[in-house]
Amino acid sequence: MDARNQGTALPAEGIVGIDIGGTKIAGLLVDGQGVVLARGSVPAPASEGGAAMADAAAGLARDLAGRARATLVAAGVGAAGVIDHETGAVRAASATFAGWAGFPLAEELASRLSVPVSVENDVNAFLLGEVAGAYRAEQDVLGIMLGTGVGGAVIIAGELRHGPNGAAGEIGHTPGYSDLVCTCGQTGHLETLASGTSIGLRYASRAGGAVLDARAVANLARSGDADATAVFRAAGRAVALACASAATLLDLPRAIVGGGVAEAWDLLEPAIEETLRTDAPVSGLPLRITPATRGTDAVALGAIESVRRALTPAGAR
Ligand SMILES: [Zn+2]
Repeated sequence: MDARNQGTALPAEGIVGIDIGGTKIAGLLVDGQGVVLARGSVPAPASEGGAAMADAAAGLARDLAGRARATLVAAGVGAAGVIDHETGAVRAASATFAGWAGFPLAEELASRLSVPVSVENDVNAFLLGEVAGAYRAEQDVLGIMLGTGVGGAVIIAGELRHGPNGAAGEIGHTPGYSDLVCTCGQTGHLETLASGTSIGLRYASRAGGAVLDARAVANLARSGDADATAVFRAAGRAVALACASAATLLDLPRAIVGGGVAEAWDLLEPAIEETLRTDAPVSGLPLRITPATRGTDAVALGAIESVRRALTPAGAR
């Protein structure tokens, strides 16, 4: 066979992973071996309702398949909000997503794309993405995502724990970390110290001036600003305490920390390691808290892993 004939091979089969957030819908298309064939993103029409979001996500999936000259065979979605993972419908969502709560996302996407679709909460997808990569050996693991807010997810014996309300792992809104009011209206939640939003607010309340984003506060800390350093130390300590509680309760030897704030691992790590020494699980469990490895691709890659798992019998994985 000469080179020209090789070029007429059948189109590859592609699985798309879609990461639906409040401002952006990002997608990755992979082949059967997990090789990335195409990637892209579109703005999220979050204020226009569920159907507009599904249209945008489906359009992105078709575009990626077209660019890769691949036949789309399945789609996985990681979406913001509380997700019913059995039906792929959105159970609850923040007010920035119009018409999102109650929207049958999996069903609507499946009818637009004519392929099997599975939908996970985005933080669950993030953790699945991490354990489908460098953390493949982890069977019992906590995931924490430090983004605009703080989300959590738990894998036990290799499987995501969803809970009867689809809300397992929501560690960002557990109390006792501060006396500050949280975005949810309650007081003292982990999120009040460890989210990107909170890091900007905590720095402004200490140092005065305009509210900066977490990256700008990180740069100040690296240049020796004591207030910025203190804000990251408080975030790191709170994250480590939350991980120690979850690890103690569920016997989890590993916690993986991702999201934009975790890019400042150099600033979080000293307080995390110190807290692991002072507040280690009394069981003697050697808890390790380590950074995520797949960056902003983790949610889309985890969404792909979720639909792969849904289509593969457990014994065959
Ligand atoms: Zn809260």
